Amino acid sequence: MEVIKAPRGTRDVLGDESWKWTHVLDVCRRTADDFGYSEVLLPIFEHTELFSRGIGDTTDVVEKEMYTFTDRGNRSITLRPELTASMVRSYLEHDMRRLPQPVKLWSAGPMFRYERPQKGRYRQFWQIDFEILGVPSPMADLETIDTSMEIYRRLGLSNLQVLINSVGCPKCRPVYREALKSFIASSPGGVRGLCETCRDRFDRNPLRILDCKIPECKDLTRSAPAMIDSLCDECREHFDGVGRGLDRIGADVRLDNRLVRGLDYYTKTAYEILAGELGSQNAVCGGGRYDNLAEAIGGPHVPGVGFASGIERIVITLEGQGVYPGKAPETDVCIVTASDDAIMEACALAHELRMSGLAVGSDYTGRGMKAQMKQAASAGARFVCILGGDEIASGVVGVKNMKNGEQVSVPRSGTAAKIALWREEMVE
Ligand code: ATP
Ligand code: MG
Repeated sequence: MEVIKAPRGTRDVLGDESWKWTHVLDVCRRTADDFGYSEVLLPIFEHTELFSRGIGDTTDVVEKEMYTFTDRGNRSITLRPELTASMVRSYLEHDMRRLPQPVKLWSAGPMFRYERPQKGRYRQFWQIDFEILGVPSPMADLETIDTSMEIYRRLGLSNLQVLINSVGCPKCRPVYREALKSFIASSPGGVRGLCETCRDRFDRNPLRILDCKIPECKDLTRSAPAMIDSLCDECREHFDGVGRGLDRIGADVRLDNRLVRGLDYYTKTAYEILAGELGSQNAVCGGGRYDNLAEAIGGPHVPGVGFASGIERIVITLEGQGVYPGKAPETDVCIVTASDDAIMEACALAHELRMSGLAVGSDYTGRGMKAQMKQAASAGARFVCILGGDEIASGVVGVKNMKNGEQVSVPRSGTAAKIALWREEMVE
């Protein structure tokens, strides 16, 4: 029988990596506190309708990527592919309109999309998600962009490229859509010059053609008209407001006329943050404004703006830039036993040491002292306690300082206090 493996597109985050995730989440939590976002823990599955109506029926996410199933009560359920729709649902469900606005929320957790797995692209992946709800002001857009940049700054990332565009609103986007379509139709290659997917997009979702990675499509749309030239007065004013705010805080942001987002709910501001270390999956963050999302899922008009960032891609970028965030867990003490009859006593000593706040590695395999010492050294232990029949008989513990190699004999009863003191001196 074959050993069962994890499903394609999922991965186990093991100990040599998981502490980096913990650090990323710690930084997010602290940044959220400093900016005034409160954390919400949302369900991992929702009614399918939330996403099909919220994200849009003709998007790749809804058409091709959702994990949808019928539950035992005959409901259509979907594992969440993103968090914004759930955030807005939660805002509406808990009537957060009665709270002082804006309402600032954040959350983190696994998302699910049936995609072709590759570096930085998985079927289960984690996102952090920050949203500012209830205000139409471009200053909210500015604050979400600032939030994401501050998280990356605190993590020690550099050389990130922030791209911004406006995708307009239902008033001006149709005008642009037509301008783009007639540009493509009258270009030398015409619609037939597009890839198969984009030929399909031409009628259904032509803005997505700007996002296509296929060289033919890129060439064909290279000198296409820009959305920002088609904006209505309101969208233009909003875009200028965000731009002035970004200038005011000295943010290095570039206009990208081709930037469109994969989810239909975006209006006005759209932005992405790219990192060179990610290769072709180069977006570490994506966000924007979604003033019509609440209505799309059956609620009243609630303006909102936010972003999501993938933790796997953050960690890849950290590793690629050689920034080692936080610290791997450290071991203060390892206990080495010189004889089998000392194992029980070693466990009791480990218990006492841990109660004194020390991080203790234990080895009760009964293997040779040499192997145990080697293990202690590779765990990076600051001290090793040596316990054998002789030590137990005379009520002492051998304590070796792994930094300078010195070894002393310490009375058994005071061992924990003594090592705790030495450790403090050593770490200072
Ligand atoms: P991409 O263009 O790379 O497919 P996207 O536009 O679909 O990204 P969003 O829906 O905006 O991504 O999600 C926000 C962020 O979540 C992305 O910038 C990325 O960091 C991360 N992300 C999205 N899809 C995946 C995935 N399949 N695996 C890992 N991370 C992902
Ligand atoms: Mg995608």
